[in-house]
Amino acid sequence: MKTLLVDDDPFALKLLARQLALLGVLEVTICDGAQPALDLLSMEKQDFELVFCDLQMPGMDGVEFVRHLAHIGYRGSLVLVSGEESRVLHSVHRLALAHGIAVLATLGKPVSPQQLSEVLATHLSGEPARQARAVLGTVTVEDLGRAIEQAQLINHYQPKVHLAAGALVGVEALVRWQHPVLGMVYPDQFIGLAEDHGLMESLTRCVLRDALRLVKTCERVGLRLQMSVNVSMDSLVAVDFPERVAEAAAEEHVSPEILILEVTESRLMKDIRAPLEILSRLRLKRIGLSIDDFGTGHSSLAQLRDFPFDELKLDRSFIHGVAENPALRAIVDATLTMTAQLGMKSVAEGIEDRQDWDYLSAAGCDVAQGYFIGRPMPGEQLAAWHEVWQQRWHDGEFDPVRGA
Ligand code: C2E
Ligand code: CA
Ligand code: CA
Repeated sequence: MKTLLVDDDPFALKLLARQLALLGVLEVTICDGAQPALDLLSMEKQDFELVFCDLQMPGMDGVEFVRHLAHIGYRGSLVLVSGEESRVLHSVHRLALAHGIAVLATLGKPVSPQQLSEVLATHLSGEPARQARAVLGTVTVEDLGRAIEQAQLINHYQPKVHLAAGALVGVEALVRWQHPVLGMVYPDQFIGLAEDHGLMESLTRCVLRDALRLVKTCERVGLRLQMSVNVSMDSLVAVDFPERVAEAAAEEHVSPEILILEVTESRLMKDIRAPLEILSRLRLKRIGLSIDDFGTGHSSLAQLRDFPFDELKLDRSFIHGVAENPALRAIVDATLTMTAQLGMKSVAEGIEDRQDWDYLSAAGCDVAQGYFIGRPMPGEQLAAWHEVWQQRWHDGEFDPVRGA
């Protein structure tokens, strides 16, 4: 794994190189400044896979370095290292992501061996590179249309559990495209395309139908699940949408009360009459409405004021790492207080580790979702996951004093 370390502090460079060597990373090049690092990266055949970069450097700092990395088309991964305040690190992390650079981690100084080995494991999993790589552009709207017709879209399901009691409360349907050539394509790479070309109605219909079938299958083995399905506010234009949803539920002999529609707004809406009518009538049909990705983009207080949501989903960008981040703590605590005062149910998505879980549990959040509990999976795997989950709960994994 060809690795480049950039830092103006020779001691920090030496320490990091030694720590990496202990973990078996031997092809390490060091640079004492951002400019020489860029010069090196711009040279041909210098295919570095991994760059560790300090933020505070004389001359060109790490923030500027990130911009230049994007300009020279760096394709590898980046780890930001700094003694700076965590909010600065966080902002630079967002900046790099916005430039399309795969950021593996942001680490405070000094870096611990444990952190380093986690970073390397993440890198080897290929996940961040997958996210940064935009498949968009290689798939066409004709492909997508055909995919919907030929049932190449499948749902994966991610469990949602009760934070205080541990019980499985439901699952969220997350659509994937099993592309004959590209393999599994994730929704971030085709939902926008579907929205732009009027394919959302048929896409949502497929997702909903499969989701309702799974509910029925689970009921047969005694598992009563709530089913969450994503819909974008922009696609709520057909005023008979509530009837269509109710009909789909009736066709599969499923009661509409088990359905929750997770609503997001991807662009600013000029005319809210149609969504207002549709969402109000969905509630009258006892279908649950969740405001998704709350706190980001257009998923805001204005939506809460105007629409009849009964569940609030805190976006995962506020959840992971909340325990150690004062800004996130303030945002999460305030949002949970508000959710309770509004009589709504709170759901935290993106719970990735035990610290996240403990924090949300102590803060009184109702429902948890995230990799720590379970990754999105094919419906057939849910029963096996559920057994493992119950075992983890009964083994007392969650017993020790919360927040200790
Ligand atoms: P979302 O509704 O916010 O869904 C949660 C996303 O976070 C999912 O990504 C899920 O795999 C991921 N995730 C879950 N737990 C964790 C965690 O602990 N850590 C991290 N880092 N990520 C986690 P996915 O499946 O790639 O979906 C991306 C987005 O695509 C969804 O975001 C949703 O907005 C949209 N989407 C998915 N399926 C549909 C659909 O059927 N219709 C519509 N309109 N949108 C959909
Ligand atoms: Ca969602
Ligand atoms: Ca989200």
